Amino acid sequence: MAVTKISKHITYKEGIHSNTATRRRMRNEPDEEQLAAMKVLAKKVFEPLRVHIEIPIRINSFFRSIALNKAIGGSGASQHCKGEAVDMDATGDTTNKQLFDYIKDNLDFDQLIWEFGTSKNPDWVHVSYTSRRENRKQILKAVKGGSPVYQVIEIGKEVEQPKEKTKDKRKSKKAIVAVKTLLNVRKKPTTDSKVVGQLKNGKKIKIIGEETGWYHIKTSKYSGWVSMKYVKLQKKK
Ligand SMILES: [Zn+2]
Repeated sequence: MAVTKISKHITYKEGIHSNTATRRRMRNEPDEEQLAAMKVLAKKVFEPLRVHIEIPIRINSFFRSIALNKAIGGSGASQHCKGEAVDMDATGDTTNKQLFDYIKDNLDFDQLIWEFGTSKNPDWVHVSYTSRRENRKQILKAVKGGSPVYQVIEIGKEVEQPKEKTKDKRKSKKAIVAVKTLLNVRKKPTTDSKVVGQLKNGKKIKIIGEETGWYHIKTSKYSGWVSMKYVKLQKKK
């Protein structure tokens, strides 16, 4: 059975549309799991927002295959690749700020991003929703930094404080970086977060905290978050 709709106001065609994919003749279709995630996001965020706004909201980008996301300069870890994120634009008399504010104040979400623009209005709104874990309710702002890399900075406070953030602060652990290339040190424990530095294989680090999948680390130069996958704990002597 061919899928024709993601939700009442989002067609399947809108859900997979991408100019880059069309131009490069790339296939951009979600699998069943990704499609299910798109439907959940549409139901939990887009449709309540659409009902409130009362006029069409443009879908700029919803599902992106990993290959497509790389083609447009994104990472394979983007929630768009999981069907968990959508980029939208207001139409008619409504503004992107209105979309942003309504989501922020009324809906559950994982990440809500004010995408560039000005302090009055973002260029577009990115919102994600996940069923894989608790939604983080992070409110972020994307800005163009000094480097060509986009930085994401927080403009609101996190509603849910990550657990065990203060606990065990005094007990730091020693560890060593185990990576083939370079290990990114990020500002926050998420792959969307700004890279504050890079560490070479074999570098000794101090772990001062942790969250699911991430270590909060310190070196003589950097303080930030690294993926647990690339860190080997050292046995205490
Ligand atoms: Zn996005």
